[in-house]
Amino acid sequence: MTTLTAQPPAPLLDRLTQLARPRETELFLARPLSALLAMHSVELLRARREHFGRRVLLFAPLYVANACMNDCSYCGFRRSSRVRRQRLGPGAVLREAELLAERGHRSLDLVAGEVPRDVFIDSVARVVDAILRRTAIERIHLNLGVLTDAQFRRLRDAGAVGYHLYQETYDRETYAKVHRAGPKSAMEPRLEAIARAHAAGFERIGLGVLLGLAPLTDELALLAAHAEWLAEQAPGVRLGFSLPRIQRVDEACDFQAPVGVDDEAFLKALLFLRLKFPRAELTVTTRERADLRDRTLAFGVTKLSAGVSTAPGGYGHSDDATPQFSIHDERSLAEVAEAVRASGLEPVVS
Ligand code: SF4
Repeated sequence: MTTLTAQPPAPLLDRLTQLARPRETELFLARPLSALLAMHSVELLRARREHFGRRVLLFAPLYVANACMNDCSYCGFRRSSRVRRQRLGPGAVLREAELLAERGHRSLDLVAGEVPRDVFIDSVARVVDAILRRTAIERIHLNLGVLTDAQFRRLRDAGAVGYHLYQETYDRETYAKVHRAGPKSAMEPRLEAIARAHAAGFERIGLGVLLGLAPLTDELALLAAHAEWLAEQAPGVRLGFSLPRIQRVDEACDFQAPVGVDDEAFLKALLFLRLKFPRAELTVTTRERADLRDRTLAFGVTKLSAGVSTAPGGYGHSDDATPQFSIHDERSLAEVAEAVRASGLEPVVS
């Protein structure tokens, strides 16, 4: 007698590969940027007008700790790096948040190396709660890696509204090569965790790839498929995207990007996401130069970091803090706000 047994579901990456449309992405990226802008100018304007108005949200990352269990070869915080490890206590995190609030910020991304232990996550939850109660900061997103359902819930209950979990690359071989040790070296749990973060109550979920690790066409096609999969799993999710780009050589983390992504390709990638996901938040960080960040506003970008440090304690007086990666736009919040106004848009902080 034959026994029927349920087949385990195929790995998510295989399912995403079936969903992805690399040919469509390739055709899009093959067109000159000027032609794409001419072809899609009406859609671009409509997407901004209907979903964001003239608003561009300005925010700052706040680095809580740089200890990490992973060994990502492109990151200055990797566990094999000899940087001095720092973990800010609750008082120091509050002081950093107060400093950012004094400078005019109201929206923070709280960032730390990945240490998915209950005691650490609980300490982050307590500082989220304290920042929201005791400073002028109004909105907190988190970037802490893959967590358990209970840890996601603990952080959501503390008042954080969004969770960012970038896949970095969808290329299996590259993923294995650059994520050399630690829990992040398992690709599948990371792919699936965004749906769990949403199920735990995070309405806003940020996805992204680290440009420069693998060929752009496949990365974008799979990122889009991943977002579509999430939207199907999690109706009502508010998607956000970021495409941090490794500069050809990042001196802060001593890493050479294997794939070049020039400015034109970067702008096309932003345009691709904006047209495909007109309601999604689109973020550009200070990894990019000031002139290019200003230019991205015409491509539907809705969120910019400003007045940034990528080191724990970097907003106070910690002059020996080691950054996670090199910054290429050192303008203050006021200067970035002025640049947004000069583009005919309205900078907002909350
Ligand atoms: S990228 Fe994130 S997970 Fe990887 S080493 Fe850096 S802090 Fe840790």
